[in-house]
Amino acid sequence: MATGLRLEDLTYVPFSERPTTAIKTGTWKYVEPVYQNALPPCAGACPAGNDISYALLLLAQGRVMEAARWWRQRNPIPATLGRVCPHPCERPCNREALGGAIAVHMVERFLGDVEGDVVPQPAPRSGKKVAVVGSGPAGLAAAYNLRLAGHQVCVFDDKPAPGGYLRTGIPEYRLPRQVLDREVGLIAHLGVEFRQRVRVGREVGFDELRRVYDAVVVAVGFHKSRSLGIPGEDHPQVYNGVKLLERLLAGERPPLPSRMVVVGGGNTAMDVARSLWRVGVEPVVVYRRTREEMPAIASEVEEALAEGIPFQFLAAPVRVVVEEGRIVGLECQRMELGEPDASGRRRPVPVPGSEFVVPCGGVVTALGEVVDLEGLPGELAKGDARQCTPLEGVFLAGDMLDGAGTVTAAVGSGIRVAAVVHAYLTGQGLPQVAPAVQELWPRPLERQRLVEWGKLNTVYFRAVPRPPIHHLPPELRRGDFAEVVQGWSVAEVLGEARRCLACGTCNECCNCLYFCPDVAIHRADGGFSIDREHCKGCGICVQECPRSALILREVTR
Ligand SMILES: Cc1cc2nc3c(=O)[nH]c(=O)nc-3n(C[C@H](O)[C@H](O)[C@H](O)COP(=O)(O)OP(=O)(O)OC[C@H]3O[C@@H](n4cnc5c(N)ncnc54)[C@H](O)[C@@H]3O)c2cc1C
Ligand code: SF4
Ligand code: SF4
Repeated sequence: MATGLRLEDLTYVPFSERPTTAIKTGTWKYVEPVYQNALPPCAGACPAGNDISYALLLLAQGRVMEAARWWRQRNPIPATLGRVCPHPCERPCNREALGGAIAVHMVERFLGDVEGDVVPQPAPRSGKKVAVVGSGPAGLAAAYNLRLAGHQVCVFDDKPAPGGYLRTGIPEYRLPRQVLDREVGLIAHLGVEFRQRVRVGREVGFDELRRVYDAVVVAVGFHKSRSLGIPGEDHPQVYNGVKLLERLLAGERPPLPSRMVVVGGGNTAMDVARSLWRVGVEPVVVYRRTREEMPAIASEVEEALAEGIPFQFLAAPVRVVVEEGRIVGLECQRMELGEPDASGRRRPVPVPGSEFVVPCGGVVTALGEVVDLEGLPGELAKGDARQCTPLEGVFLAGDMLDGAGTVTAAVGSGIRVAAVVHAYLTGQGLPQVAPAVQELWPRPLERQRLVEWGKLNTVYFRAVPRPPIHHLPPELRRGDFAEVVQGWSVAEVLGEARRCLACGTCNECCNCLYFCPDVAIHRADGGFSIDREHCKGCGICVQECPRSALILREVTR
């Protein structure tokens, strides 16, 4: 600059005392940063649509009640899910590479167990009435969300108490009954009516329900068992797995043979074997594929093995061996794995001449269930993408709709059907497809943008190990249905929440504010504001945001 001034003539250094905001550099830019929360991989993978990162953010700030309330906005059974869900949310968790995935299920269990004012207020009464058939997780979630939307809801179920398989299938050592009872109680407290021991299609007609109610949600699950199809199967000491389990879980202790073979590789097989072991029977599990192909939740198989329950893999039953009227064994044939079948698992192929007998006094079949529509209209056999049926005002949810076979999927299905039924009842018309659970979140976010590992600025994170989860030692489990997995303390849960990277969710770490070279970012109510006239769109704040909660978008003038 030709000012004529020489350095040695200066008595002071000339600098501007005015902020550079006077220069409207923002008007030259063609891209600008915008705060935009996006979907973390955990929540994208949760079939129940739990807003995990936001609840963990609240918890990390010590706001336990708010986090517990947040979790229950749509999901009525977090204490249950935290215990029984195979937690698919943890598989894609970005924390995995930095000390292990966040134990979301342990946090959910903790939040579900929080007592107090945790249930949202229902909307004002709509004057509409909905019947829900089936009180399993899908029916409970549908009833809860429809009641929250202001509708009158009555649940019909053929069992003595609500819960579906949560009560008649999943044993207390995984889901204590007081936990389930409390969650059902919270739903009832909202004003949902439960009519138990009422089989629709027998005690009350399906057409009558359609006449009395403005809408009917059917969520009757899978309750008709598959059979083995082998000689000797009709012997009185060949038991149906779900029925035997239901009796044991109701507290019955029928006289049983001392050694029993359990046939199957799913959750029912594991729970039957583990329950029999607890009541003093020696079970042996026979499964036609290998451990890798077992449909049971992996942790259930691990626990069964820890309890010392023996498995016969690659073996399929061919005959129940009966001598003098008593079962003495189950004849099986060795299998080897062939090409993958429709399920994607390798098909078991019999090995000729490989028959052998597993000695036992009884057999339990646990081969899976299908829908039982006895007394119900055949039109319920198939729902569409909107969870509608060909019958006007009749909707479907849960296993019977999609066969997903998990509690979390059933909850998600119940939440979605409630949104569809609400739209139907309030004259908004039916959607093309039932909304995704994440679309129903009350906080805005960019659902299409999944914040995977590559989108994080990982330089800001250091590895912190996941705390251990404690289990009741196997030697203390025999003869007892006490809960195996122990809960975490408040300190452990808060520590875990602080380990969460809050992927895609602004947690006000202030990096954007510190790094903006033009001081164009300021603190504002509940977050930050960007001085659009001054920000020149360099994108440094976007680059430095650890969790991809800022994006650059084109400027539209
Ligand atoms: C032994 C066992 C263990 C399992 N363990 C797990 C696990 O650990 N984790 C997991 O995620 N999933 C598990 N599952 C699967 C899970 O329980 C189901 O996927 C889930 O319960 C399905 O929910 P739903 O609401 O569709 O039906 P259900 O839970 O089956 O509930 C349907 C209800 O409707 C009632 N009903 C049926 N017909 C009628 C009628 N005509 N009138 C009135 N009521 C009727 C039934 O009696 C039942 O109470 C397990 C399943 C079993 C059997
Ligand atoms: S329901 Fe299952 S998948 Fe969803 S947050 Fe809980 S543990 Fe994770
Ligand atoms: S670190 Fe937190 S927000 Fe990110 S995927 Fe894991 S649980 Fe979700």
